[in-house]
Amino acid sequence: MDTFDTMEESLSIIKMAERDSLTGVYSQTFFYHYAEREIHEHPYSDYDIIITNIEGFRLINEREGWKTGNMVLCHVASFFKGIIKDGELCGRLMADRFALLVKRRPVSEYPSMFMPVTNYLRDNDIAPVTMKYGIFQVEDRDEAVDFMCDKAATALKKIYKSYDKNFALYDEKLKSQAETEQLISDNMESAIAHHEFEVYYQPKHSIKNDNTGGAEALVRWNSPTLGFISPGQFIPIFEQNGFISKLDEYVWEEVAKSLHETLEKGIQPIPISVNISRIDFERRDLADHIIKLVDSYEVPHEYLHLEITESAYSDNPKKIAQDIETLHHAGFVIELDDFGTGYSTLSALSEISFDILKLDMSLVKGMEQPKKKMILSHVIDMASSIEIQTVAEGCETEDQAQELKKLGATYIQGFYYSKPLPENQFEQYLVANG
Ligand code: C2E
Ligand code: MG
Ligand code: MG
Repeated sequence: MDTFDTMEESLSIIKMAERDSLTGVYSQTFFYHYAEREIHEHPYSDYDIIITNIEGFRLINEREGWKTGNMVLCHVASFFKGIIKDGELCGRLMADRFALLVKRRPVSEYPSMFMPVTNYLRDNDIAPVTMKYGIFQVEDRDEAVDFMCDKAATALKKIYKSYDKNFALYDEKLKSQAETEQLISDNMESAIAHHEFEVYYQPKHSIKNDNTGGAEALVRWNSPTLGFISPGQFIPIFEQNGFISKLDEYVWEEVAKSLHETLEKGIQPIPISVNISRIDFERRDLADHIIKLVDSYEVPHEYLHLEITESAYSDNPKKIAQDIETLHHAGFVIELDDFGTGYSTLSALSEISFDILKLDMSLVKGMEQPKKKMILSHVIDMASSIEIQTVAEGCETEDQAQELKKLGATYIQGFYYSKPLPENQFEQYLVANG
């Protein structure tokens, strides 16, 4: 090998590393490097960093094979190469994630700029994909480009599951949201170790007996450093990072302990329902774990109700059906939570052994409207005809309570009767309201 060959070889190695070998756009390292240079060398140009993902790309690979997957990536990359102008860049950061550095345009122009690629892939029967775009407008030119990409990716993350949004702009609100999410994740382990999570109880009013027929355990987090954080905020984060399984275990154990103490005092407890997250079903030993836990506190199974969110069922129906069957067979009462929130699989009602249907508060809200009332009435009748009881959630007014009674709901849960209460106040509530 002469010197020239060696030079050429090293040049081609450099080129290979500079370009992504599949698509020919810049590789991650070189995208960052050239983007930084471009931004610094043109101090009077405004730039946007755009991060984009192909939705469901993993599924394309699984269903259609990696050849189709690669073809989609190549089409997307060559489309981007075709639309960027001098001084603009495109790179592939990983898998189906591309980054672009473009001269700033009005955000409203981006849809017409980018939509042709998905239209092309669909119209030519290559793959009916959706692409989402996170946009970060560069302000501080000294910020590292990988941070800028992270910010564009944060904007993108916010619209992952949305049906109607394909473009999202990063703003300061998202920044503080991302920081809060980080703080929540950083603090969760120590919070559980220091018993910062507390179980509150919200009564379920039995219409037939006109007393408290049960209660739902709802977790609360009052952090000495972060303040009060609502479950609506931390549960989705814990579902994403997997911590929900640990937290749920903690809540189930607190409830089992409390039921045990009531039984020890010779009092017959009312059934308490706990929430089971969709993530919990990823555990192989879920049913076994719950049974062992409740047995270790010598609590008869019928005192623990298990609330399973309706949307979980569409994730993994087979495993969920098996777990529920085992738990139902072991004597636990199963409640289908959030019924009517849009994930409805009516077939779930016939395929799975539910005992109770929890009508989501979105059905109860606005039930004054004749159409909504009619739907509610039919759902309650349908449930009762297949011998499933109903809990109407989110009842806030006396009028709603009266209507729900007329419609034949079995239980009512809502602020009209009581907000979720700390254990000692809940005990007082029970003394007053049976
Ligand atoms: P969910 O299981 O459907 O719980 C009912 C939610 O409705 C509770 O919100 C409750 O406070 C609220 N609520 C009840 N009555 C009314 C009312 O009349 N009006 C209004 N506006 N709201 C009412 P919360 O406690 O904020 O919990 C939100 C969601 O977080 C729960 O929805 C559940 O999905 C989840 N969650 C709460 N605790 C846990 C837990 O320990 N584990 C798991 N996996 N999820 C939990
Ligand atoms: Mg619930
Ligand atoms: Mg619910």
